[in-house]
Amino acid sequence: MNRVERDTFGTIYFPISILILSSFFWDKPISFFLAVLTLTFADPIASIVGSRSKHHFIPWIDKKSINGSLAMFCTSFIIITIGTDAMARYYGSSFYLPLHILIGLAIFTSMCATLSEIISYKGSDNLTIPLISFFSYEIFLINYTHGNLFHLLIWTILSLLIFTCAYKYKSLDFSGAIGGFLIGAVIFGSGGWKLILPLVFFFLTSSLLSSLKNKPPSNRDVMQILANGFIPALFALCYFFFPNGILLLGYIGSLSASTADTWATEIGFLSKKNPYLVFSFKQVSKGESGSISAIGTIGSIAGALILGIICSYLFEFNYLIVMVTIAGCMGSFIDTLLGRYFQGKYICIKCGQKTENKLHCNTETKLKTGYRYIDNNFVNFIANLAGSLAIILISLMYG
Ligand SMILES: [Zn+2]
Repeated sequence: MNRVERDTFGTIYFPISILILSSFFWDKPISFFLAVLTLTFADPIASIVGSRSKHHFIPWIDKKSINGSLAMFCTSFIIITIGTDAMARYYGSSFYLPLHILIGLAIFTSMCATLSEIISYKGSDNLTIPLISFFSYEIFLINYTHGNLFHLLIWTILSLLIFTCAYKYKSLDFSGAIGGFLIGAVIFGSGGWKLILPLVFFFLTSSLLSSLKNKPPSNRDVMQILANGFIPALFALCYFFFPNGILLLGYIGSLSASTADTWATEIGFLSKKNPYLVFSFKQVSKGESGSISAIGTIGSIAGALILGIICSYLFEFNYLIVMVTIAGCMGSFIDTLLGRYFQGKYICIKCGQKTENKLHCNTETKLKTGYRYIDNNFVNFIANLAGSLAIILISLMYG
């Protein structure tokens, strides 16, 4: 079936997802097998039904259909319900799930798998469907055994509300809202309210601050969400399976970097003066990557500091406030440096305006400085990673 589609990376993604799952989770054969079954059956059925459907929508880049998504949901629902029971019998499991829990498990896993299919692009569902199915299945089951299912349900409903609002007010586009929902589900499922609160703080304050300035809403897509959400979600998941304080610190550090950087940008916009390009006396327009202003810098420190105070109430680490503040400022500084020296900056050949986008006035722009493949998302991603590594290093040296 891959042959029929346009250029896809599906054939590369599939072995990668199998490799990740089999190297870390070889002791969880049921979840592994069900995740692969979901990709093998539910995904092709979704694309067959979808290709016959007349009603399409474009959540991000690839065309999807409501019928295809419904088919995907129903097929994975059947695979999870029947498969879980059949495999529990095959492996001679010591306990069986009550029917309502089994149905809840199938709904949660199928919903997450279907949402990850909706925002997939060029065959990336071969990577996301097995991974998201596996992790949502595990998350639901472990929350069940810990007696936390009620909280997971409350969070799922609450986050559906949050992301519907964010979509309505154009803080996120459709793909961004789905991506945010999935990342929230992974992080809440990994550590409950304690783990999600710092993320909610980052998300709400950055949305609020960006609504203060007189600019059109940001309408962030799934790549922008992943640029800030992938590293924290990864640390949260690792902490969930391998509970170690270092991983928890990595999670906090990456959020601190995004908070510091977003606060710097958004509060910098409120400044009356234009910012300076870092390490130079050149004034540039507000929001240009690699620029700093006094107010923005104060905002960045304040964001990281407040996050540090919140985290010090939630988690028990020595000097957490200081560590979070330093990690946030480091992350934000790395963001500025990368933005100044490496991020691709372009000039529009039609109207001559400077831009950070590859398209302007519907025409391809000309590269002026930096590298074409380093965009704002990439810079944010590295800055997040820097925040994580900074806090981990500080705690190893002084903790
Ligand atoms: Zn232009």
